[in-house]
Order: sequence, then C-alpha cells, then structure tokens
Amino acid sequence: MSADLEQRLADLDEHGLRRRMRLVSGPQGSRVVLDGKPVLLLCSNNYLGLAEHQKVREAASEAALRYGAGAGASRLVSGTMSVHRKLEAALAEFKGTESTVLFGSGYLANLGVVSALATAGGRDTVVFSDALNHASIIDGCRLANAQTVVYDHCDTEHLALLMEQYSGRPQIIVTDSVFSMDGDIAPLAEIAELKARHGARLIVDEAHGTGCCGPGGRGAVADAGLPEGAVDVLVGTLGKALGSYGAFAACSATMADFLTNTSRPLIFSTAPPPPAVAAALAALELVQTEPGHTTRLQANAETLRAALAREGFEIVGSSTQIIPLIVGDAALAMRICELAIEGGVFAQAIRPPTVPDGTSRLRLAVMASHTKAELREAATVLGKAALQAGFRPASGLPVAATQGAGASSPRALRAVRAA
Ligand SMILES: *Cc1c(COP(=O)(O)O)cnc(C)c1O
Repeated sequence: MSADLEQRLADLDEHGLRRRMRLVSGPQGSRVVLDGKPVLLLCSNNYLGLAEHQKVREAASEAALRYGAGAGASRLVSGTMSVHRKLEAALAEFKGTESTVLFGSGYLANLGVVSALATAGGRDTVVFSDALNHASIIDGCRLANAQTVVYDHCDTEHLALLMEQYSGRPQIIVTDSVFSMDGDIAPLAEIAELKARHGARLIVDEAHGTGCCGPGGRGAVADAGLPEGAVDVLVGTLGKALGSYGAFAACSATMADFLTNTSRPLIFSTAPPPPAVAAALAALELVQTEPGHTTRLQANAETLRAALAREGFEIVGSSTQIIPLIVGDAALAMRICELAIEGGVFAQAIRPPTVPDGTSRLRLAVMASHTKAELREAATVLGKAALQAGFRPASGLPVAATQGAGASSPRALRAVRAA
C-alpha cells in the first residue's frame, strides 16, 4: 500500500537527505538534553534566550489564566482580543510604522503578504526574489501564481538588469534582511534605491533581524537608515528572538487594512493564542528595556566566529548570529553533525532543499545565553568532528561556495523562471 512512499524515503536515505526529528527534553536553553544526551545547543533561533525567560513565561501563564488557551476564531470573526491589539501597537512603535498585523506564523505571514500584493498588481505583476530567500516567500509567489524572477543572491546589478527588462509591469521586490542559512545581510539601501527608481513595492523579511541587529534590536532595516516609505511591508516573526510563536507585518495603516481584507492565511486561520501573544509582548519589552540581550548576542557571535577561524574554518559572509560551516556534501555534513553531538555540541546539519545542492552545512546559531567559554569549547569540538569526518575545514570547499552569495547560487537558479 505504501511501497511508493517507502521507496521515496529510501531514496532520500541513499542521498543523505533523510530527515528525522530529534527530541529535546526541557526548555530551549543554551544546554539541553537531546535524545537523552546533554549537549550545548547551537542551532536554536531562540537567539536572546527569551523563550525560557522568567518574565516571558509568567506573561504566557497569566494570559492563559486571563484570556484562555486559544483565540477561538479567526481575527475577522471573534478572534481579535485586547492582547492582540496591545502587541500590534507595541510592534508598530518598535518598528516605527503606522500599523502592524499579526499572523499565525512567519510562514503564514510571507505566504499572505507576498500573495496578496502579487495578486493586487494583477496578472502582469512580476516578483523579484533573491535566490536564497526563505521557502515561505517562494510559496507566497506560488500561492499568487505570480511570475517570479529570481535574482542572484544579494546581487543588485543583476536585480537592476532584470527590473529594466520587465519595466512597464507592476513590480515587487522581496528579500530576507538577514539570510536564514547564511547569516549575511541584504544590500537594503541599494535595493530600496532600485525600488524607488522603478516604482516597485518592497517586502523585507526580518525574521532573523528583529531583536538581533540594528539600533535597539530594531532590525537590519532600521540599521540601513532607509528613507521613509522605502519598505512597504516588513515581515517579522515572534518565534525567533522574541521567543514565542506567531508573526507580524509592519506597514502603513492602508496596507494593514488591505492585508486584513485580502490575505488568505490571515482570514482563514485562527488568531494566534493569547499566551503566545502575551509572551511575545513581554519579550518585546525586554528587548527594549534590557538592551544587554542584543549586545550580548552580537558579542557572542564575534567570539564564535573568531574561535571557528582559529580552528581553520572559513567563515565568509556572515556578520550576524547565524554562522554557516559549509561542508558541501549532505552525508558528510550529517556525519560531522553526529560526531559533534557525540562531543557534546548540537549544530543541526542543513541539507537540500533547504539550501542549494552542494552547499550542505552545519548552521550554527548563537544565543545571548551562551557563555564565551561554551562557544570556544564548541568551536574546538566542531573542529575535531570535522577532521574526524575527513573534512579539512580550511580547504574543504572553494571560498566562493562559502560566500553563500551569488557564487553559491546555482546558475540554473538565476535563469528567469516562472513559478
Ligand atoms: C523562520 C523563518 C520564517 C518563518 O517563520 P515562522 O514564524 O517560523 O513560521 C520566515 N522567514 C524566514 C527568513 C525565516 O527564517
């Protein structure tokens, strides 16, 4: 009955691409028990350690007692509660926009924002998407059935050329700010300039920027100092630095109204649960009142990068808390991951289709709650694991492949492609 599925799983196995869920016991701290074994956690997006912060937990439990476990309906029926409104107001103030709209998750937010805007422009709309954008952006283009043109990673010359080629049609540019698998930052000033020149719309996904970089942790867009109105919709998630679950779109009041009326993942899905919303609100307050969380995260990222360099790893491109160790081969990445776990460090191997073919990697994610000693020790463990697996860090791959940049995006991807 399910022989075809078993065959498909066996194929994945053979290519080193079979996935399974590992089990973490207890909260998402800097040290966890993984499948029964204590390890240092080096691949969680709980960057600021706020998921297990006492104040955030208390906010969630108080909200559960006050508002209940669930919102009971979608935002447009009876699911909009005072706690949703409070968080939307706080996020708008944090991001410096007129409005924000909460979504169920970052995945749903991208799906909803990209598809709603692509549909609004009509059939002629062209979406320009960075080659390394998150899967949820790609799926948003699919949902809209929009023509999608992929430009080389962070390559604004390529983007300019393509926008020229498609001039006269409604255009949307969409990009991650901090790239989820490479930890580099999009050239937002140049992108905003192109957007203005062509009268396009710009959507920026700050899933990994919010709380982690920029003035007061306000993100990479705030850091870029873009002119007013440069970004039409800024998407952020509550599930990463803010330690909870859910997401938001920060934008003008008109845009918020438009999304509320047209974004299908918002309209046809239950509103985020009050405990998650209250937790994010408490986390946002901590980001603003205790800037030490963000500055510690940045200092920790520096420490890990330096320690990895001493081990001979080539770190190119990453300037954030996300640090990729690019290995290339999927099975080899898995082997290094398993050996590192034996050594007490958990850094998940990331393989295609999450990253382009031939760029399998260990994606390291630093947390503010790591100590410097833990990070130095982790670098040593990873260096040993790499050697033991037969991977020579410094010479494993040409530098180009570790740039994550244009260099690692397969040529095939740069071809104009209709989604
Ligand atoms: C994680 C991530 C998302 C999805 O956010 P969730 O809240 O986890 O659904 C969207 N965009 C990027 C760039 C991400 O890394």
